[in-house]
Amino acid sequence: MHRELFTADHDAFRDTVRQFIGKEIVPNLTDWESAGRVPRELFTKTAEIGINGLQIPEAYGGGGITSFLFNAIVIEETGYAAASFGGLQVHLNTVMPYFFEYANDEQKDRWFPGFVDGSLISSIAMTEPGTGSDLAGIATTAVRDGDDWILNGAKTFITGGINADLIVVVARTARVAENRRDGLSLFVVEADMDGFTRGRNLDKLGLKAQDTAELLFDNVRVPARNLLGREGNAFSMLTHNLPQERLTVAVAAHATAAAALTLATDYVKDRKVFGQRVADFQNTKFVLAECATELEASQALIDRALVALDTGTLNVADAAKVKLFCTEMQSRVIDRCLQLHGGYGYMREYPISRLYVDARVSRIFGGTSEVMKTIISRSLGL
Ligand SMILES: Cc1cc2nc3c(=O)[nH]c(=O)nc-3n(C[C@H](O)[C@H](O)[C@H](O)COP(=O)(O)OP(=O)(O)OC[C@H]3O[C@@H](n4cnc5c(N)ncnc54)[C@H](O)[C@@H]3O)c2cc1C
Repeated sequence: MHRELFTADHDAFRDTVRQFIGKEIVPNLTDWESAGRVPRELFTKTAEIGINGLQIPEAYGGGGITSFLFNAIVIEETGYAAASFGGLQVHLNTVMPYFFEYANDEQKDRWFPGFVDGSLISSIAMTEPGTGSDLAGIATTAVRDGDDWILNGAKTFITGGINADLIVVVARTARVAENRRDGLSLFVVEADMDGFTRGRNLDKLGLKAQDTAELLFDNVRVPARNLLGREGNAFSMLTHNLPQERLTVAVAAHATAAAALTLATDYVKDRKVFGQRVADFQNTKFVLAECATELEASQALIDRALVALDTGTLNVADAAKVKLFCTEMQSRVIDRCLQLHGGYGYMREYPISRLYVDARVSRIFGGTSEVMKTIISRSLGL
């Protein structure tokens, strides 16, 4: 169905991004998957075509765009091409909103020009070996010492953690007996700070070109000027940005499922079995018809959510519904599209196999499907 969201400016930007992915990413993807990361220089190239600075105010050299639609286009085109920008999507769509919302003027002056030209890329470090879904249970601490904070702890599963120059770290700065969500704060750790080390680039099932790291903080002396937002207030800051983070995962999930449908539709028209095309079996037609219908429903949900995000009305429960529906749909659709490829679908040289392994994590990161259901049921008064 026709999408009503986009103008000629969006379409022109989409063309630019599509060409960039075709020229700079697709031919290199297999090498980057073997390396476990995209090269750091990729982010200066994306900066040159304006991706990095889209939402940064013009005063710092950025595009000054408040709408999320241009970001959504980058996510969509990446998914349609079964490609990867490494940790860039997390930097742009999950971490940058904290800087936009909570950085003071001095911090903006220090970091925003680097974000625009691609010399600075950030990650967000919430998850720890001992806790993920239960964020209030984190063990990383920061203790005030004069003009600094002393940070200690370990984080894991951090997207972009190998390539990042700045890491936004969630740490406990106080224990508040009545409310364990109080007393968490956000610190910006710079990669060259003493005591900060990167652990393993983790060997994942999928998303092979995206670095996912362990990060270690051993008495890291973080100057107080690197505190982001109000001390003790991190939980509500993190909650504030959840709708955009979850919509990002949903948009990627939809786009990769759409790519799977295209791949399968093309494949079944070529492949002959028992003297006829796989496309000629009624089962094939019905399976692909179901996939197309699921995709249409998911697209409608996403487009409503994109409008709601831009108008500031996308709440946490609605974003959870969108993430839950689109990521569960993604797994169903990609699985069926792989099945139609037969054994070739299981071979890594066929992009459907990459879509399959990459999809599995969508139901886990950014909050698991079970956590989404918890949030949605709470909104029902349960
Ligand atoms: C590839 C990848 C990239 C990631 N990137 C980042 C990143 O950049 N930054 C970052 O901070 N984190 C990141 N994460 C971590 C991710 O957000 C967590 O893995 C996720 O939140 C789940 O936490 P957990 O792994 O500790 O699972 P757990 O919280 O231990 O969950 C285990 C199981 O228990 C279930 N469960 C938990 N709570 C409930 C409940 N209340 N009711 C019912 N069931 C429940 C879960 O759904 C799950 O099935 C990433 C993870 C992966 C795999």
